[in-house]
Amino acid sequence: MISTDLGYNTIQSSGPFSFLIFRMTRPIQALVHRSALKHNLARIKTLCPSTPILAVVKANAYGHGIERVYEGLRGAEGFGVLEVSEASRLRALGWRGPILLLEGVFDARELEECSRLKLWHTVHCQAQIDWLVRHKTHEPHRVFLKMNSGMNRLGFGPESFKAAYTRLVACPQVQEVSLMTHFSDADVPAGVNAQLATFQTHASDLGGEISLCNSAAALIQPKELDLGQDWARIGIALYGGSVNPQAQSAQAWGLLPALTLKSEVIALQTVRAGQSVGYGSTFTASRDTRIGIVACGYADGYPRHAESGTPVLVHGVRSQTVGRVSMDMLAVDLEPLLSTSGMDSHNIGVGTEVTLWGESSLGTRLEIDEVAQSAGTLAYELMCGLSTRVPISMDEGSDA
Ligand SMILES: *Cc1c(COP(=O)(O)O)cnc(C)c1O
Repeated sequence: MISTDLGYNTIQSSGPFSFLIFRMTRPIQALVHRSALKHNLARIKTLCPSTPILAVVKANAYGHGIERVYEGLRGAEGFGVLEVSEASRLRALGWRGPILLLEGVFDARELEECSRLKLWHTVHCQAQIDWLVRHKTHEPHRVFLKMNSGMNRLGFGPESFKAAYTRLVACPQVQEVSLMTHFSDADVPAGVNAQLATFQTHASDLGGEISLCNSAAALIQPKELDLGQDWARIGIALYGGSVNPQAQSAQAWGLLPALTLKSEVIALQTVRAGQSVGYGSTFTASRDTRIGIVACGYADGYPRHAESGTPVLVHGVRSQTVGRVSMDMLAVDLEPLLSTSGMDSHNIGVGTEVTLWGESSLGTRLEIDEVAQSAGTLAYELMCGLSTRVPISMDEGSDA
């Protein structure tokens, strides 16, 4: 079942027979698949059976929308967010369980929101401890003290970690101190061992629950890490992105795409041999080629750097883009479709579905990672970069 955030695509008529007139405008749309979110969460729980999960919904749930993913992900033990406003939206949805602010508070005033919304918060620097020491609260906080074990972005270095811990434990505003770190190379051969050793050397004699893993660490090193931690912080895998696309697709990890970006053909061209398509004439046809022009461009969040040859599904059949992506349009090769699917040009035309990533209405799939790789980027960036002009609908699915 599909329900749409109707927004500006809807005209609500008034009067006794009030009903919704569905006015399709530009055909691009995104779909968030609730059953895929549930499936991916269940899959991660199978891979790390003894670790409670904080479902990471920062950046508006990696572009999917916190309100849209909530139902699919509320089976997690908690949520991880970047901003207090995201935590507040989860509380408004009725979530009473744990919420961790992944970078902690950005100023002293946000501690009041932590008290009010009962948020756990990361402590990664002295200023955050100073703010806590001066904070007046009746509700002592649970904090996650972060060690910089090698990423060198946030956290106390191994040598100053214990002193920060001692200061927090002595702080009446603090009820419980947990310990965390973040891996820089969990997705590549360098792996987590060096950082894990640093963390264990300097944190193992301190009490408290432990949070170590992002998706890559949890999926690639589950056995080593599952034993020693209390909270995994899982983002990309929940949305159906691979944790190391060069080595293994999301499908091979048993993950399903939670986001589909689709549009339609809005014009047809036959490009003669020697002619080209689009700005800069970067693609030249070697033979007469039927091309579909699709209502999707970089202003929708499709990557401009996607090369000619980026995979795409036309009417559910795998084909590829040709030429440069422009602001509002891109071009796709219709030849594979016409030659292999037994369709003729009468079946393909204005209105033919084009799936840029995710799942076609014929059930075939194209991984967002493949598109990202063609554009020299990551699934993370494509998900977060979906433009606000793309209407997003909820595919509530059937919970098979
Ligand atoms: C974003 C984030 C995560 C989740 O990372 P994924 O690679 O998407 O699983 C985990 N921990 C922290 C601190 C983060 O900021």
